[in-house]
Amino acid sequence: MRPVRSALRALSRSAVAESVASAVPVPAPVVRAFVPAADVRQAVAVAGQLTADDLACTVAHLGRDARDEAEATATVQEHRVLLDRVADAGLGAQVDVVLRPAAVGLHLPGGEALALTHARQVCRTAARAGVTVTLDSEDHASTDVVLALLGALRADFPDTGVVLRAHLRRTEDDCRALAGAGSRVLLAKGARDEPADVAITDPAELDRAWVRCLKVLLDGEGQPVVATHDPRLVEITIALASRYGRAPGTYDLQLPYDARTAEVRRLVATGERVRVHLPWGPEWYGHVARRLAEHPRNLSPFLTSLVPKK
Ligand SMILES: Cc1cc2nc3c(=O)[nH]c(=O)nc-3n(C[C@H](O)[C@H](O)[C@H](O)COP(=O)(O)OP(=O)(O)OC[C@H]3O[C@@H](n4cnc5c(N)ncnc54)[C@H](O)[C@@H]3O)c2cc1C
Repeated sequence: MRPVRSALRALSRSAVAESVASAVPVPAPVVRAFVPAADVRQAVAVAGQLTADDLACTVAHLGRDARDEAEATATVQEHRVLLDRVADAGLGAQVDVVLRPAAVGLHLPGGEALALTHARQVCRTAARAGVTVTLDSEDHASTDVVLALLGALRADFPDTGVVLRAHLRRTEDDCRALAGAGSRVLLAKGARDEPADVAITDPAELDRAWVRCLKVLLDGEGQPVVATHDPRLVEITIALASRYGRAPGTYDLQLPYDARTAEVRRLVATGERVRVHLPWGPEWYGHVARRLAEHPRNLSPFLTSLVPKK
């Protein structure tokens, strides 16, 4: 399965594959299974459906790194429109929004200051809407800069969270530094390919590192958000939370939108707080290709759906 995963991961980053895939009439229901909303209106509608089912959600805009200041500003504006609509719909308390620093200018000249200015604008609108913001992590080379951004934002918006990826060898220390009161860390294994000197590549070693990070967060005073598809890690999280004396609601389980709904219902029925990851935007290709790379068993129904029905 590993060579299939690597090939699919490479395809998820290929501009040629993206333009070919975008020309293929992929049926909307197939894309929508992974990316349920193409625009703000649909994203707010789906968030409303999820909250009506007692689910929280993390809304993540699928977009590119900003190539110039105009693109960065446009992304800020898109987030602010979304946040205003979420507020109008009265959904603020259940919604978290992921903000990618690179999408608001981090990698442009003067990018650290620009991304901070832009992130503040998003956080200000989010605070008015009663929505929390979580900074996504970029590649390992940007981790220090992203954590500096987080520190600056938390001075004014203390509930700003951050994504930490357990595959980076530094992450256990970062969890320790961010396990204090009021912090929100979203713990994921890590989707990006990173060099072996900074990242763990062995799956069993990665699972152990992920659990060590989780223990640090559960032992702290923050609100961990645990993002995984892995039913075994979900069960480990619930068992460890109980061992650390944490009641459901003092941590979130984050599952992808296409996760088995019966499993989500079962978790909610046992009192767990489940936060569904809700990707939105027209640029579905990279996200869907990554999801197929993570779980190649999804590939067969995906390919079948592309064959024209007689
Ligand atoms: C809700 C969510 C949010 C995420 N947010 C971020 C983020 O902000 N930043 C970031 O870098 N990465 C993020 N990721 C991605 C994550 O870092 C990688 O996708 C990682 O490879 C996923 O690891 P995993 O814990 O799901 O388990 P894996 O090691 O990928 O899989 C473990 C087991 O889980 C099951 N499984 C895996 N994938 C699927 C699937 N698609 N469908 C059904 N079962 C499956 C299988 O049984 C598999 O053996 C997120 C992932 C999820 C699920």
